[in-house]
This record gives sequence, C-alpha cells and structure tokens, in this order.
Amino acid sequence: MKTFTALYGRPAEGEWAAPGRVNLIGEHTDYNLGFVLPIALPQTVRARAARRDDGRLRLWSAQGGGPVTELRIADLAPGAVPGWAGYPAGVVWALREAGHQVGGADIRLDSDVPGGAGLSSSAALECVVATAYADLYGLGLTAPDLALLAQRAENAFVGVPCGIMDQMASMCCRPGAALFLDSRDLTARQVPVDLAGAGLALLVLDTRVKHDLGDGAYAALRAGCERAAAMLGLPALRSLQPSALADALAQLPTELGPLVRHVVTENARVEEAVAHLDAGDPAALGPVLTAGHASLRDDYRVSCPETDLAVEAALAAGAHGARMTGGGFGGSVIALVDAAEAGRVAAEVTAAFRAAGYAEPRTLTAVPAEGARRLA
Ligand code: ADP
Ligand code: MG
Repeated sequence: MKTFTALYGRPAEGEWAAPGRVNLIGEHTDYNLGFVLPIALPQTVRARAARRDDGRLRLWSAQGGGPVTELRIADLAPGAVPGWAGYPAGVVWALREAGHQVGGADIRLDSDVPGGAGLSSSAALECVVATAYADLYGLGLTAPDLALLAQRAENAFVGVPCGIMDQMASMCCRPGAALFLDSRDLTARQVPVDLAGAGLALLVLDTRVKHDLGDGAYAALRAGCERAAAMLGLPALRSLQPSALADALAQLPTELGPLVRHVVTENARVEEAVAHLDAGDPAALGPVLTAGHASLRDDYRVSCPETDLAVEAALAAGAHGARMTGGGFGGSVIALVDAAEAGRVAAEVTAAFRAAGYAEPRTLTAVPAEGARRLA
C-alpha cells in the first residue's frame, strides 16, 4: 500500500477515526422516530486528511480497490458520484448545502469495520469524513449536527433512505456505554453497560450474506410505516402507545398491521432493555433480544435463513439471547453469552452453518467503544 505522502507528496494535517456499531435493540424504529440503543464497536474507519485550496476532493480507500478518485467540489451533485466515493463526497456536498464554506481535501481511508455486514461501515465512513472536515475547516459543529449532515449525505446524495441511528451511534457513543437515543428529537443518554463485570460477552456473528432484495425492501417497509402512521392520524408510529395497539390494528389493512406491531413492541423493548441496564442486570437483556428477533422475523419479515440459523444455534448453545442487528436480509447477529462460553458458542454456530452448507460466519466480540474522534 502506498503511503499518504507518496500518494499526495505532502504530509497529512491530521488523522481521525469513526466506529461501526451494533444496535442492542430498537431495529427499524429510528425512521419511525422511536428509541434505539446502539453501542460503538472498537472497529473504525480511519481518515488521514489535509485541506486543499484548489477546490478538489481527492479520495482513496484501502478497501475501495481502485485508484485515487478526484472530484471538483463545485461539481458535486446527488447521483453524480458512483460507488463508495459517493459517501465521503456526499458529506462534503451536505456541508456546502448547509451553507458551510468548505473547500477541498486529500483524504486517505482505511478500515477494519466489515463492509455491508449490518455493522454500519457506511455511517462510519461518512462520520469520519464529517469529523475531519469539521476540524480541518474549523466549523465548530456539534456531534449531532455532524450526524445529521452525514445522514443527509446518505439519504440525498447516495440515495439510501436510512434513519439517524447509525450516524448518531458513530458520532456520539462512549466507551462502556450504550446510547439510549430518542430519534424524534435526538435527546440521548449514555447508559453504562458493564458486560465484563457481569461475566458476560456480546458476540457478533457476521453471516457474510447480504440478500439483494434488501435495498428496495427497506424503502418499501419505511413507506409502509409512514402510510400506516398517516392512516392513524399520527406524525410517526412512535406516537402509538402499546395500550392503543389493538385498536390501531383493527383499523389498518392487514398488510400494515404486522409492521405497526413490530415498531410499537420494539420501541417498548428499548425502554425495557434500558431499565435492565439501569438496574445493573445486563443478563436480563437476553430475552429482550430474542423477543426482538422473533418480531423482526415474524412481523417485520427482514430476517433470512442465515440470520435465523445464527440466532437458533446461539440459543441452542446456551446464549442468554440473540437477534439480528442492522437493517436485515443478511448481515450480523448479536448473541449475549457467558464470557467463559463465548468460544464454544461461536464454534457451535460455525458448526451449524457448516452443516447447513453456508459459508462460515465471521466472529467479533463487541466491547462498547468510543465514537468519532481525532487521533492525531
Ligand atoms: P453497512 O453500513 O452495514 O456496512 P452499507 O451497504 O450501508 O452496509 O454500506 C457499505 C458500503 O459503504 C460499501 O459498499 C462501500 O461503498 C462503503 N464503504 C464502507 N466502508 C468503506 C471503506 N473503508 N472504503 C470504501 N468504501 C467503504
Ligand atoms: Mg450502512
């Protein structure tokens, strides 16, 4: 790999990092303006970056598999930048759209966040670029400001209608804590998560599958939720209280009922999970995770045979609870296990995958880590 200096002929002005995430509970609730509970992973996307004063944005990624992408920032427009470079270019576009007088940069990226695995490498990429730009151009923006700009890049420039969880997690998570985020107003609380102190570990099982129907299905599910909220006269499904769910289901067409039931019960599961963490009982998260998976599988219908098998095999191996994390249609599963049993649970899930003829999952251990930051 060429060094930054060899590529650009001058030293970097700084280095920044932004993490991937797993979400403990609260899936597909963010765009319904509900609660989520992510933790940041130790795995990060890192950027070495320097300002340029000639209006050019030069991007290179160790994972991008190509030469330097050179863009003129004056030409940036939604849809104009294909491939991975659209994420960082979209951040620069969103900053300029918001009125920030930013110029060009040389940005060299490297990452150990698995891409396309439901661990939010895309938000990590956006957030590291947003954080680097905020420092390089002295913008004085807060972490939530940068998260919103990163989300705008993904929504409007790349064209993925994601909610705000991934960017808020990558920007705002803290070591040893989960981010209890209200997606409606971005109020957030750091909830301590002491897994090791309770003899527990959180396994991440990346199934390494990503089913193609995912992209269109996500947008269709989101549209279904928005249609249901409008039919119920609500600004968003988050506003539907669990006590009013049965009445609401009676009013809705049958195809929308299960979506609404997932969102309402999932939102309540986030509050339940936070109560267990606040009580210092992280093992009690287990059944909440497993109930969340059943809801994603049976009501929201975003799981797939591989994620279902990972959950079942982890539970059969003695996990306290397990669920898919991320948007679904593949990606990763989290399993809450006794720390001493983590290796055995991972081995039993791997054996179940082999027996089913699937590729072996990749295994990580999730230790709640730090959000986006400057490294040097
Ligand atoms: P996830 O966010 O779950 O990892 P996405 O499909 O949302 O999955 O984002 C993955 C995409 O993000 C990749 O296809 C690639 O375009 C981009 N990406 C992520 N990390 C990098 C990286 N280090 N270098 C280049 N592109 C990256
Ligand atoms: Mg993503």
